[in-house]
Amino acid sequence: MTATMRAERFYSDTKRVELEDVPIPEPGPGEVLVKVAFCGICHSDLSLINGTFPPQAPVVTQGHEASGTIAKLGPDVTGWAEGDRVVVAAGRPCQVCPNCRRGDLSNCQRIKLMAFAYDGAWAEYTVAQAVGLTRVPDNVPLEQAAILADAVSTPFGAVVRTGKVAVGESVGVWGVGGVGTHIVQLARLVGAVPVIAFDINPAVLERALELGADYAFDTRDDRLYERVAEITGGRMLDVAFDAVGLKVTFEQALSCVTVGGRLVGVGMSAESPTVGPTAMFGLTRKQVLGHLGYQNVDIETLTKLVSAGRLDLSRSISEIVALEDIHRGIEKLERQDGNPIRILVKP
Ligand SMILES: [Zn+2]
Ligand SMILES: [Zn+2]
Repeated sequence: MTATMRAERFYSDTKRVELEDVPIPEPGPGEVLVKVAFCGICHSDLSLINGTFPPQAPVVTQGHEASGTIAKLGPDVTGWAEGDRVVVAAGRPCQVCPNCRRGDLSNCQRIKLMAFAYDGAWAEYTVAQAVGLTRVPDNVPLEQAAILADAVSTPFGAVVRTGKVAVGESVGVWGVGGVGTHIVQLARLVGAVPVIAFDINPAVLERALELGADYAFDTRDDRLYERVAEITGGRMLDVAFDAVGLKVTFEQALSCVTVGGRLVGVGMSAESPTVGPTAMFGLTRKQVLGHLGYQNVDIETLTKLVSAGRLDLSRSISEIVALEDIHRGIEKLERQDGNPIRILVKP
C-alpha cells in the first residue's frame, strides 16, 4: 500500500482546485522529497485558475514558492541530508536546449515551471531537483524563506539585474503591493536615494514609508510631476519600476524618468502602453526594459541578507492559511482583502 498525502490539484478542464489524497511522490535520481513547511499563493497561480495563463498539464498541483525540510534523498544525491531546511527552486532547466547544453542553465530556452509544467507545493510533500535547492540558515524562519522563491527574488532580479540600480540613484516604484514593497526595500538596500512610492491606496503608501520609502505619492495628484522634480533637484528619476503593468502606470512612470534613465516593466497585463513619438524617445535616450524572474543563485543571496539582518521580511507574511482553506487565501488575494503582501499555505 502506498502512503498518501493531501494536495490541492488544479483541473484545466473545470478550472477547479480540489483537495485530494494522492500518493506521496518518489524522488528519482538526483532528486529529493521535501516535506513542505510553507508555500506562497502567487498572482501567477490565480492567472492559471482564471485562464490568463494557458494550462500546461490537464491536472497539476499548484504552488511554486515553497520552503520545507528534506524528507528523503533520491538515488545519487550527495551533499544533502534528511532534515535539511531548504527553499525549492521554482523551475527546472530542460538540460537539452542549446543554452543548457553550453552550461547556461539560468537562460534555459525551455525551462519547466513548477506548478505549471510539473507538480508544485500546495501539498504535504513535493519532489525537487537537488541541484537548485537553497539551504536556509537556522535563524531565517521557513515562512520568510518560502517567499524568497518568487515574491522577493523577482523584485531582487528587477532591482539588481535588470534595473542595475546603483548607489545614490533616485528610484520610483509604481504599485507598492506584494511585489512593489519588496522593490522599495531592495532599492533602499542597494543605496538608492531617494526611493519614492507611487500608488492610489493610502494604506499601502503608508506601509511603503514604514518599509523604507522616503516619499509616497498618490498617482492621481495633479502636481505629481512637479513634486518628483522638487525632491530630485529637477532631475527626475534615474530608475522607475512599474510593478502594476497598466498603460496609465507605465506611461506615468516613463514620464518621470530623467534623460538617459531606465524604466523597468515588472507588472504585466493585456494593455499596450506607448513610449510616445520616436523623436522624443530618441532625444531623451530613455531605456525601457522588460523584466521577468531572477536567477536561482539570487535566492541564496537573499537568505544571507535576511540571516544577517540586512533585509527585514517580518511584515511580508500577511496571513497563513491551512491547505484545506486555500480557497479563502485565493479569494483574499484576488480581492486584495487587507492589502496582503504574501499569503502562505501551511500543509
Ligand atoms: Zn509566482
Ligand atoms: Zn534548457
